[in-house]
Amino acid sequence: MYPFSFTKVSDTREALQAGRRGGRYVAGGTTLVDLMRETVERPHALVDISALPLREITVTERGGLRIGALARMAETATHPVVRRSYPVISEALQLGASAQLRNMATIGGNIMQRTRCTYFRDVTAACNKREPGSGCAALHGFNRSHAILGTSDHCVATHPSDVAVAFAALEAVVHLLGPDGERGVPIVEFLLRPGDTPQREQALRPGELITAVEIPAHPRPLKSGYLKVRDRQSYEFALASAAIALHLRGGVIREAKVAAGGVGTVPWKLPAVEQRLIGERPSAALWADAAARAADGARPLAHNRFKVELLGRTVERQLRTLGGTR
Ligand code: SF4
Repeated sequence: MYPFSFTKVSDTREALQAGRRGGRYVAGGTTLVDLMRETVERPHALVDISALPLREITVTERGGLRIGALARMAETATHPVVRRSYPVISEALQLGASAQLRNMATIGGNIMQRTRCTYFRDVTAACNKREPGSGCAALHGFNRSHAILGTSDHCVATHPSDVAVAFAALEAVVHLLGPDGERGVPIVEFLLRPGDTPQREQALRPGELITAVEIPAHPRPLKSGYLKVRDRQSYEFALASAAIALHLRGGVIREAKVAAGGVGTVPWKLPAVEQRLIGERPSAALWADAAARAADGARPLAHNRFKVELLGRTVERQLRTLGGTR
């Protein structure tokens, strides 16, 4: 370890002041403290925001859902409204991390978590994300778990969050509070593809704080669920995952929300799959045809070509689970 300051704040004004001075916000600490132990991250000042009043989960006036940034993964997964109306969120949370971690980790921290690329966590390896300009050991190293979508010549790491995939499918908005006031950013714009600046992972301005994630109102009923495929059935990250929500009326799919995890540098929205589904009646042929578009634009690496087919199969299986196979 190395020296750093630690300040616990009790209101957002205090937090923003500390953030403006360059302090790093921490709540559950389940990612950042690990990375500090490994000296992958070396913040000089930590600002503990865990006492801020940002833990509520509420139904909005417009019929959406607002999840406070400090709501714990576990309490969000088991919240009655989340379980009843957004099973895709509940399932993604239950399938992410251990029970102990889910009791500590927050929703805001979950979407801010950093990649599990092993080279990123090995301070002796070249990594543009950890040390800009040093290279990318994964490009020509062992890259089985890496991304096939949204990659660049500078970084091919996947985003590790499960619930962020559910949020992307449901077109969630990340609410931010900073020195210039409040703003909302769609999660698919908040999480940044690596491009030539892989060290920049979120569209956060200096000192900004996540206050909540809001799911906009969707037509009811919305059937939804999350399928995660991985090497073992617990405490493992996705090789491919599918977050899907469908609204059917009169036997026809009126709305389709689809995103994939484990395959992209960010949670990967699948508009071609969504468009193929809308206006159609459920059938096994439709599921297969829609899922065949899931990996459009994929750029597999030496060891992860299998993800192209795996992604299609994952999406097809989850469509079949949600929509039946008539
Ligand atoms: Fe670093 Fe990204 Fe390359 Fe992994 S894939 S070594 S995180 S630059």
